[in-house]
Amino acid sequence: MSVAAPRPDSTPRSVGTPRSEVTRFAPSPTGLLHLGHAYSAVTCARAAGPHGRFLLRIEDIDTARCRDTFEQAIFDDLAWLGLSWETPVMRQSTRMDAYARALTRLDDLGVIYPCFCSRKDIQAEAERLGAAPHGPLGTPYPGTCRDLSPTERDARIAAGTPYSLRLDHLRAHERVGHPQWTDRHHGTFQADLSAIGDVMLARKEVATSYHLAVVVDDAAQGITLVTRGEDLLPATPVHRVLQALLDLPVPEWAHHRLLDDDAGKRLAKRDDAVSLRAYREAGYSPAEVRALAGLPD
Ligand code: GLU
Repeated sequence: MSVAAPRPDSTPRSVGTPRSEVTRFAPSPTGLLHLGHAYSAVTCARAAGPHGRFLLRIEDIDTARCRDTFEQAIFDDLAWLGLSWETPVMRQSTRMDAYARALTRLDDLGVIYPCFCSRKDIQAEAERLGAAPHGPLGTPYPGTCRDLSPTERDARIAAGTPYSLRLDHLRAHERVGHPQWTDRHHGTFQADLSAIGDVMLARKEVATSYHLAVVVDDAAQGITLVTRGEDLLPATPVHRVLQALLDLPVPEWAHHRLLDDDAGKRLAKRDDAVSLRAYREAGYSPAEVRALAGLPD
């Protein structure tokens, strides 16, 4: 039997036709954008290709930390950088019904359960079990509430005990196995549910989570290529499993490198990384700021 040699990765899928993708930049309006965001947004817009679509999504489910002024600053800064995007812009705070529908579907599949633990309870139980203090997605949930009886659950809910909703990763595994996903820069992966554990899908204070909202919205926006920073690589197996459970289309991913400051520390809003706004006010041009972010013209 003769087997054709595999094509090198750099071979275009169809010669002569530029690839078109639907991409999105999805910032949270919790601070001013910095050079890392400029890199991400421009990379994302360029990845759409000349005939593709570049969308913007405001990830504002955490209303306690989001501010209208930061949202306006996102629009201003991206436009100043020379980007344009389709309107209307999707805002996650207006999408709670869609997230609730997805949770109902997961509940019907029997793959989520209410969790009554506080952060302190989880920490104490994880320590008692000698679990690794931090997985890539935070402290792994030790499964305390997974096996509560339906009567116990109902009684606690009826008593008004606040609860979050978690993925039952064992049941999810029975349903979807190890779904695959492909990242343009990092290769092909299989989602490992035991590494994911029982992640939180809706919080006590907010009736969704980053993971659930992103998956539901990427599908609703028809995203074909998820372009974002490498810090979110560990979250991707969760997203892939949720897509499999919810029967949603599967995009491709492109997790790009992260930008460091002069001291080699990753740029972050919470550390007061120099904002795009500050560069602009100091007289830098958009081209200069793009160059500072390491973006070729
Ligand atoms: N809202 C996330 C952030 O600002 C990005 C989420 C994503 O691209 O999936 O880090």
